[in-house]
Amino acid sequence: MTTQNPIFIPGPTNMPEILRRAVDMPTMDHRSAGFEGILQPALAGVKQVLKTTTGEVFIFPSTGSGGWETAISNTLSAGDKVLAANNGMFSQKWIDMCQRHGLDVEVVAVPWGEGIPAARFGEILAADKKHEIKVVLATHNETATGVISDIAAVRAALNASNHPAMLFVDGVSSIGSMDFRMDEWGVDVAITGSQKGFMLPVGLAITAFSPKAMAALDAATLPRWFFDVRDMRDGYKVNGYPYTPPVGMLNGLKLSTEMLLDEGLGNVFARHARIAEGVRKAVSAWGMELCAVSPDLYSNSVSAIKTPAGFDANTIVTHASDKYSVSFGGGLGDVAGKVFRIGHLGSLTDVMALSGIATAEMSMVDLGLDVTLGSGVAAAQAHFCATA
Ligand SMILES: *Cc1c(COP(=O)(O)O)cnc(C)c1O
Repeated sequence: MTTQNPIFIPGPTNMPEILRRAVDMPTMDHRSAGFEGILQPALAGVKQVLKTTTGEVFIFPSTGSGGWETAISNTLSAGDKVLAANNGMFSQKWIDMCQRHGLDVEVVAVPWGEGIPAARFGEILAADKKHEIKVVLATHNETATGVISDIAAVRAALNASNHPAMLFVDGVSSIGSMDFRMDEWGVDVAITGSQKGFMLPVGLAITAFSPKAMAALDAATLPRWFFDVRDMRDGYKVNGYPYTPPVGMLNGLKLSTEMLLDEGLGNVFARHARIAEGVRKAVSAWGMELCAVSPDLYSNSVSAIKTPAGFDANTIVTHASDKYSVSFGGGLGDVAGKVFRIGHLGSLTDVMALSGIATAEMSMVDLGLDVTLGSGVAAAQAHFCATA
């Protein structure tokens, strides 16, 4: 197994050498003045990436899933009602977490490959005259199916019925790769992790709370200790954590946000869009289709590619790993065996993407699929030639 090749799973993503070095720090006394110079720029950088001026950022030693738990446990009480769509593995897991916390989840089942049904949400919210729904959950980018949902439309559905429910958005596989506007979209809790758009190792749950979400902290009675945002807020006031902070990871995050902002968020999103389109051009050249049912839903961070009926898509993933030491994502849950996924987010160039497309092609040809070597690569090359 060589470690030379880039990775094409939709997280953890490829780590730039400079970020690996930033994370690898000598031990620092986290109660020394030096920590302030890491913590505060990291918090400020995340705010800019999230496009929020009013949100408060809280970063926990955890993963994206810990961000989900931070959001719900700090703002809700057992029996509270939340509204969510199940349109993929990640939205489904967040629903499961809510149910295990004793929340009453109104689940809108959506065929996997479709987005959040904002119009249906609008009907449900309008019918909820007593305002029993406390929170609407939204998975911005469903990583299992490669589907991006329209968060502005979910916000508009809330506003149309003057519904006071908060809007919590899982941006784990969108933030830092696709546009995310916390303030403009009225997001009350935004959630991500360190290992996707931020190009870092796994290890941080990154959250941001709106003033409205902050105002809900004291009334919420779900048990929490490790993820209590109030303790974290008090810690930050004196440049500390309620426990030992992951200093190296925070140092990495400080640098990662600098890198994203130096490149320019618009340029970062345009790079992801261009590379994603190159992958999609390759998929069409192979005569295949995406799991995402329409172009407005195509994710610029991951493509889930449907393989012919009767063919186990996971064999592409194991074969590419065994023979070429290149990793792709398998299908999850309802689409297991039906799709394989090419992650194209984080630290990625056109040239790297071409190597992934070429390897997927070699694997599919090895496995006897009706794909011509070079067809997808040529389609992506033409796109990159024209747009780079
Ligand atoms: C990766 C991912 C998660 C889970 O994050 P972990 O860091 O694995 O806990 C949640 N939601 C989405 C959309 C993801 O892509």
